[in-house]
Amino acid sequence: MEPVIVVHGGAGNDFDDRVAEFRVGVERATQTGWAVLSQGGSALNAVEAAVRMLEDDPNFDAGHGSFLNANNEVEMDAMVMEGAKLGYGAVAGIQRVSHPVSVARLVMEHTPHSIFVGAGAEQFARSMGVPDCPMEELVAGSSTHLLRPEDRIFRPHAGDTVGAIAMDASGTLAVAVSTGGMAGKMPGRVGDSPIIGCGGYADNELGTAAATGSGEALMKVVFSKTACDLMGGGLNPQQAAEEVLRLLERRTGSSHGGIILLNPAGEVGSAFNTNHMVHACISGTHGLWIKD
Ligand code: ASP
Repeated sequence: MEPVIVVHGGAGNDFDDRVAEFRVGVERATQTGWAVLSQGGSALNAVEAAVRMLEDDPNFDAGHGSFLNANNEVEMDAMVMEGAKLGYGAVAGIQRVSHPVSVARLVMEHTPHSIFVGAGAEQFARSMGVPDCPMEELVAGSSTHLLRPEDRIFRPHAGDTVGAIAMDASGTLAVAVSTGGMAGKMPGRVGDSPIIGCGGYADNELGTAAATGSGEALMKVVFSKTACDLMGGGLNPQQAAEEVLRLLERRTGSSHGGIILLNPAGEVGSAFNTNHMVHACISGTHGLWIKD
């Protein structure tokens, strides 16, 4: 199969003045993932590498750019999934790590479990040799550093969450998603991003999806799995992306959302209802394209 990778930097209305920076970051992450694929690497390695790069980029709401919760702390959510065996791992509300996406992968590959939360997730990360990243470093890198009292009132605006989907030469699909969640969220709040079928999904028989937007709404329609089922039912990825967004709007009100999709043939779809969702794709056939 011809490998392909698609990466997004979040669907939002609040970063119109930073689109140029977002394009640079998303393109760099897509190139990083593509380098893995083009050297024969797995889809899982590619999406993890792309997302790690965005977790290091303070422009994005993940890792070192995570939004702050109402206590001015960083609590992060991440997931990975691979479509050959439906392998899945996730962390929620994790603190003091630089790369939650890699901890999610360790959960998938080194435990009999699927989701680790909070202190247990951190304890697991340490036990696997993941270095400690002091909270001050994550907060200092936050794109909302520090929340002013008036910003601590939660406004359900989608942010700059990141996600990547890929297909490798063997035809295996994979997804990785990482986020600091919504700015001003209540401590302990978990969004769609780490939840299987909501923030992301991958099944070699259906396709793969990475979502962004208002997590509470995306969960209600099991956004990513629904999009994959639409592809399994015969829609092409672009039709499925548009259809699942219509469903989100119809069933949950005017919720913000965006999605990137790949079907098992490596065809791409994307849709969003916010001002921007910077996303880029690289494949051997079509080279690089980037949209916002
Ligand atoms: N979906 C994320 C969440 O609800 C936010 C985002 O996509 O920007 O935590």
